[in-house]
Amino acid sequence: MSCGKVIPVQVALRARPLIAKEENEGCQTCLWFTPDEPQVTLGKDKAFTFDYVFSPNHNQQDVYESSAKKLIVSTFKGYNATVIAYGQTGSGKTHSMGGIYEASLSQDEEAMGIIPRIIRDLFEGIAERPEYTFKVTVSYLEIYNEDLIDLLVTTSQKQTLSIREELNGEIKIKGLKEVVVQSADATLHCLSEGARSRTTGATAMNDTSSRSHAIFTIHLEKNKKEDVNDHCIAKFHLVDLAGSERAKKTRAEGDRFKEGVNINRGLLALGNVISALGEDGQKRPHIPYRDSKLTRLLQDSLGGNSHTLMVACVSPADSNMEETLNTLRYADRAR
Ligand code: ADP
Ligand code: MG
Repeated sequence: MSCGKVIPVQVALRARPLIAKEENEGCQTCLWFTPDEPQVTLGKDKAFTFDYVFSPNHNQQDVYESSAKKLIVSTFKGYNATVIAYGQTGSGKTHSMGGIYEASLSQDEEAMGIIPRIIRDLFEGIAERPEYTFKVTVSYLEIYNEDLIDLLVTTSQKQTLSIREELNGEIKIKGLKEVVVQSADATLHCLSEGARSRTTGATAMNDTSSRSHAIFTIHLEKNKKEDVNDHCIAKFHLVDLAGSERAKKTRAEGDRFKEGVNINRGLLALGNVISALGEDGQKRPHIPYRDSKLTRLLQDSLGGNSHTLMVACVSPADSNMEETLNTLRYADRAR
C-alpha cells in the first residue's frame, strides 16, 4: 500500500479444481500457485498478486475464514459491507457465494459457501450481544437487462422497482420486499426461495448459466437497550454477478445479445467504479456510479467507510485461458 492511499477493496482470487468435463476433454491446468504467497501465474510468465489467492486445494471454510468473515465484524459496528463474486460462467461464483437452492439448504458443513456462513455468524454475533436489540431484514433481487426483479415475491405480486437516493446518501429500492427474519434458518429459507426463482437461460457455454446479477442483502439494525443514542444500521450485500465471458463466446443473438450488452454494462461500470475508488484522495476522479443499475444500487456500499471483497473466480483449465486472463486483469485493476 503506497503512502496515504486507501484501498477500499480487497481482492481474493479463487481457482476451482478441474471439473470432470474438463478432465474428460483432456484439459491441462494452466495456473500455478506460489507457495506461501498470494501470487498466481497463468501459463509461463503472467504473474499476478492479490490480497488472497486460493488454489484448488482450499476449501469453502478456508476461503471464508481468511477473507469474508471479518466483514461481519464491521457490520456490527455500522459499516456497510459487500462481497462480490466475479468470473466467467462455470468458474465457481455461485459455489463460492453459496446462493444455490440446494446448497443453501444443505447441512453439509464443507459445501456451505460465503452467504450461509455470513448468516450463521450474524446470528451468533447477535446472541453474543444481549445488551442490544436487533432487527434483521433481508431482500433478494436480480438485475437482468438493466431491469430490477424482486426474487422474494411471486410473479403476480411483482411491483416495478426503482433505485432512490436519500438525502443522507443512503440508497433505497422502492417497492422491494424486505422480510424480517428472526433466525439463521429463516434467513436461509429466504435465500433458497429467492435462488429458486432466479432467471436462468441456456447458452452455448453452460445450460444453467446465469445471465443476471443476483444481490442478496442483509439489513441489520442495532439498538442498545439502556441507551437510545447507541444505535446503528448497516447493510451487507452479497453479489453473484452474471458471467463475465464476452457475448460472442456464448454465441448470443437477438435478445440474448442485448442481454450480453447490458450485463457488460454492469460489469464494465463496476470495474470503473472500483478502480476509481483505488485512486488516492486528491487524484480521485469522478466515481461513475450512475453508469449502471448495479453500481447505482451498490453506491453507498462501495467506497467510503464500506468494506468490499471481490472474489474473482477462475477455471484452471487451459481451454479457458483467455477468459481466465481477462478475469485476472479485471481483478488486478480492482486493487
Ligand atoms: P458459476 O456460478 O461461476 O457459473 P458454479 O459455481 O456453478 O459456477 O460452478 C461450476 C461448477 O464447478 C459446479 O459444478 C460447481 O459445483 C463446481 N465448482 C465450482 N467451484 C468449485 C470448487 N471450489 N470445488 C469444487 N467444485 C467446484
Ligand atoms: Mg452461477
